[in-house]
Amino acid sequence: MALIVQKYGGTSVGTIERIMAVAEKVKARQASGDQVVVVVSAMSGETNRLIALAGEIDGNPDPREMDVLVSTGEQVTIALLSLALQKLGSPARSYTGGQVHILTDSAHSKARIQDIDGARVMADLNAGRVVVVAGFQGVDERGNITTLGRGGSDTTAVAMAAALKADECQIYTDVDGVYTTDPRVEPKARRLSRITFEEMLEMASLGSKVLQIRAVEFAGKYNVPLRVLSSFEEGEGTLITFEEESMEQAKISGIAFSRDEAKLSILGVPDQPGVAHKILKAIADQNIEVDMIVQNIAADEATTDFSFTVHRNDFNKAVDILHRTSEELGARDVMSDDTIIKLSLVGVGMRSHAGIASRMFETLANEGINIRMISTSEIKISVVIDEKYLELGVRALHEAFDLDENKTA
Ligand code: ASP
Ligand code: MG
Repeated sequence: MALIVQKYGGTSVGTIERIMAVAEKVKARQASGDQVVVVVSAMSGETNRLIALAGEIDGNPDPREMDVLVSTGEQVTIALLSLALQKLGSPARSYTGGQVHILTDSAHSKARIQDIDGARVMADLNAGRVVVVAGFQGVDERGNITTLGRGGSDTTAVAMAAALKADECQIYTDVDGVYTTDPRVEPKARRLSRITFEEMLEMASLGSKVLQIRAVEFAGKYNVPLRVLSSFEEGEGTLITFEEESMEQAKISGIAFSRDEAKLSILGVPDQPGVAHKILKAIADQNIEVDMIVQNIAADEATTDFSFTVHRNDFNKAVDILHRTSEELGARDVMSDDTIIKLSLVGVGMRSHAGIASRMFETLANEGINIRMISTSEIKISVVIDEKYLELGVRALHEAFDLDENKTA
């Protein structure tokens, strides 16, 4: 007998018909002898609808009340799913986050889970019930309702699985697994049968939207085997797990990209200690996150050029700040470009294979794609290129690294 936590996202519970279908699936799993905890999201569109309602009253609504509001979406689905299970003859019981003591900090709309009391859930499971838990929500020490950030039901499921020491956490969604890259950009993209936590984390932070980043972090930290699979089709999905020595690792597992990038440069800054700090502090003070950073000594050796990337939403604000900094520091010029994107190769196989970077740069060069910035980590190489080359770049790399469908990597 296994203990399984299943999570169904918004589209999977988007209508009564679909909720009935989920109930059938859950019932079948339980009938095969397993204990099942189900975590559900709000019905698709519901969270956005609630946010919009509040927006009609106040453009900058109080975070505490927002959490009281948006957490209601999940409360609807837990009750409906439990009713559906009962209708099928499966004893089921629903719980809100607070009822199963999903204790979080008090950071409304982005709270972090600190503790879960699994006793109540275990008692129900041992009595033969299916337990249905509301995703996305928790309570702080004082009993205030909190939420975990958009897409947070994934994290609820993983945290539940960790607390109950579940055998697997299954995330049912509208795609049938994790792909080598976005199939809308490269139709030859292939479903991965497995991927490591580390790689998945990189893919998620680099723009792949299959799972909430925090959920992957949590799963890696507590060693919860995580499987992404479709609620609409049969299939094995993708297992996210630890790296196994015995596995012959593909060099590259996937190609991620992010269109939300913008690049800024400040040119001819006097090359002195503290310059990088001055430039970035002004940016950080406005709560703008900086991603890639490149600093280069100029030909005259007395000045330096400094470039970095930010999210496109922060572009205009960052440009204004940088112009001010430029005046203060007596720099020569400021350059800015919001028509760039970031493209990244991800793979733990990079650790043991040399020449990945040069192969990547050669592939892009052959397509006439100019690389504007580069950054690397142990299992990732990212480049900044012009946005018009996104599709071309992804497809060329997908082929160069043998990721195309019907090739075994
Ligand atoms: N309902 C929440 C959202 O739309 C949480 C979730 O679906 O995971 O972000
Ligand atoms: Mg989701």
